[in-house]
Amino acid sequence: MRWSRYFLHTLREVPADADVISQKLMMRAGLIRKVAAGIYTYLPLGLRSIKKMEAIVREEMNRAGATELLMPAIQPAELWMESGRWQKYGRELLRIKDRHDRDFVFGPTHEEVITDTVRDTINSYRQLPINLYQIQTKFRDEVRPRFGLMRGREFIMKDAYSFHSSRESLDETYEGMRQAYGRVFRRCALDHVPVEADTGNIGGSASHEFMVLAQSGEDAVVSCPSCKYGANVEKATSKFFDDEVGPAPADAIRHIDTPGTQSIDDVAKFLGTKTSELVKTLIFDTDLGAVMVLVRGDREGNEVKIKNHLGAQWLEMLPDARFEEATGAPVGYCGPVGTKCARVLADYSLRNRGSWIVGGNAKDRHTANVVPGRDFPEPEYSDFTTVLAGDACPRCGTVLEIYRGIEVGHIFKLGTKYSESMNCVYLDESGERKPMIMGCYGLGIGRTVASAIEQSHDADGIIWPMPIAPFEVVVTAVGKDEAVVRTATEVYETLLAAGIDVLFDDRDERPGVKFKDADLVGFPLRIAVGAKSLANGQIEWSWRRDRAKQLGEPAAVTAQVIDFVKAGRQQGT
Ligand code: ATP
Ligand code: MG
Repeated sequence: MRWSRYFLHTLREVPADADVISQKLMMRAGLIRKVAAGIYTYLPLGLRSIKKMEAIVREEMNRAGATELLMPAIQPAELWMESGRWQKYGRELLRIKDRHDRDFVFGPTHEEVITDTVRDTINSYRQLPINLYQIQTKFRDEVRPRFGLMRGREFIMKDAYSFHSSRESLDETYEGMRQAYGRVFRRCALDHVPVEADTGNIGGSASHEFMVLAQSGEDAVVSCPSCKYGANVEKATSKFFDDEVGPAPADAIRHIDTPGTQSIDDVAKFLGTKTSELVKTLIFDTDLGAVMVLVRGDREGNEVKIKNHLGAQWLEMLPDARFEEATGAPVGYCGPVGTKCARVLADYSLRNRGSWIVGGNAKDRHTANVVPGRDFPEPEYSDFTTVLAGDACPRCGTVLEIYRGIEVGHIFKLGTKYSESMNCVYLDESGERKPMIMGCYGLGIGRTVASAIEQSHDADGIIWPMPIAPFEVVVTAVGKDEAVVRTATEVYETLLAAGIDVLFDDRDERPGVKFKDADLVGFPLRIAVGAKSLANGQIEWSWRRDRAKQLGEPAAVTAQVIDFVKAGRQQGT
């Protein structure tokens, strides 16, 4: 490809609304262009990386025994009503109507369509297991689309779905997919970790997320340096604190005046105690009504754990304006004794505590000597708090660490959630009808490419890992000297003939501009042909990663570069 005729236009300015480095670089290097919030055009250069990423995923899926198909982006609402997600999915689901006023959705995911396909096609245990995948455009009306391809509304995902007649068979495919994901991310040179994850909206029994470690990550990953326990912070647990055991007091509850102490820190200061000795009251608004959650004063409530425990469809902090009406207490002074909240939950860490200090349900008042079961009904105990760095690993007790991560892949053991609601059954050996056991496996194509940039760049631009570089080599003609143009063209054509993805920078631009652009776009290898070295029969080449320039005869440099590219393509395989 000749740059002069290619559609590649770099930007000098950093786009004003770009927040993370990968988004800035993808826009500046001419890979993507924003059309609307969370909706992008993949420009020719960006599309090349996307296609390479897809090819890697395709190879690894095929190798893992999955078969490719392509389902429609637009899906009839009836299927979503059958699974129950027409009601449950919420506002991320883009609902559309056709000219006959019939309801459709633009697929955010494809469990419904694949389950419908398989139930109509397969009826015997002999036809199982099967594993089907597609690479396709999804739409999710994200609340906050941002970070470019990282959290778009329209984005490309590889999604696979497996169907089984036994748990063991699901376990086997799940493990194969877990390994396939590892290979995909290694091939893109991504520093990643698989972690235990919450199963969220999709439901199911077990799930792992593949996290690329990066400061810009929207997720937090809890990790044990010793036993390799790893989990999304939404789901992670730590060893429970059993050091709080104390005798229940014989004394009755006692009110304490605590004027002007709305926050837990104020109360601790006022009473001269540590926040960990107090009980913090959190009030959430949910589709099941207002719910009270009690946690140790120094811990944060974990909304995902609380929502899962309740089986609620949505959950958010109760707004101040509705606080008194829902709880009977002023903001800052709410507690469990005599509360209006119908459900009271308490974190495990409070289970053995003898007496509690809690909000007194009146302005400027707290209550001490509170005993659960005596002064208010026994709460529902479970794990409702978020793990903090420094907590002990639930498996081995080592001090846990917390990192930022980008979720690039997510695999689930779905079980029979969809096969039951949608009647996707098979006949087993004894002729009995049973729901198929399912797994599903998602991988964000654009998000993975963006993560690779997030992990591999410098102040001047992208440093592509060879396997997903839009072009592997740039040949830069420095100046318009006839010998320069002739040699550069020969080098370019030799590389092309050898099957190398090469861009020939034949533009009528100053050398400085060409080199700046080459650094910004991040071609892994660069060959520069200039009059000065050519006078000695030499051309220059360098790796983008260190830019150390080396000289050699054109034929030798070309042969060397071809070898480097071929070796680089094999990276991580
Ligand atoms: P997140 O928690 O980041 O919203 P998710 O749990 O909703 O992700 P899944 O439903 O598991 O994501 O989708 C599978 C994969 O699709 C994700 O691992 C991610 O790589 C990709 N993905 C999900 N949402 C987006 C998005 N809005 N933009 C780009 N890629 C996405
Ligand atoms: Mg999501």
